Amino acid sequence: MTKLPSSIEKLINEFSKLPGIGQKTAQRLAFYLLKKDNIDINALSFAIANLKLGVVFCSVCHNMVETDPCATCTDPQRDKSIICVVEEPLDALAIDRTSQFKGVFHILGGVLNPLEGIGPEDLKINDLLARITNHESRIKEIILATNPSLEGETTAMHLSKLIKSTNPEVKITRLARGLPMGGDLEYADDITLTRALEGRREF
Ligand SMILES: [Zn+2]
Repeated sequence: MTKLPSSIEKLINEFSKLPGIGQKTAQRLAFYLLKKDNIDINALSFAIANLKLGVVFCSVCHNMVETDPCATCTDPQRDKSIICVVEEPLDALAIDRTSQFKGVFHILGGVLNPLEGIGPEDLKINDLLARITNHESRIKEIILATNPSLEGETTAMHLSKLIKSTNPEVKITRLARGLPMGGDLEYADDITLTRALEGRREF
């Protein structure tokens, strides 16, 4: 029986563990790399090996950044009294790309998902409440910018209730409809995202 060399088998096995990559794609990627020069392969393996070097979590907003606190949290041009709550770092990046948002972020690190066993304690929810309560000046607005999915809506509802009970004076808004339901913020185009931000409503 013919067998692939174990080095190729190993790489196919590693690729197939990645999200959205099945056995076929894993094989295709491995054979694609086999045809590449060593320089390209070394550059790829170097990038993977050093992926986590120099990546830290900002202790204020919990974004993945290079310094703690991050450049956004320390930027004097940013309005610290407006916090935009998002699921993941890529969502913050997408909102920042629109240049419409001048506040700061809070990265939850996911959404509530009982089916997958993700509860409030798995997200940076207590940190958000503490951040609102302990802020040196009054927080003016919390924009709930979780994705327009079932889990994103549920999480926004949960946060809204919590903030209203602990900090009733804070204005809570949600991005306007117009983002495709079930869609992902990080893939929304700049115009749609800008409209959703501008049209945000009290929640
Ligand atoms: Zn930060």
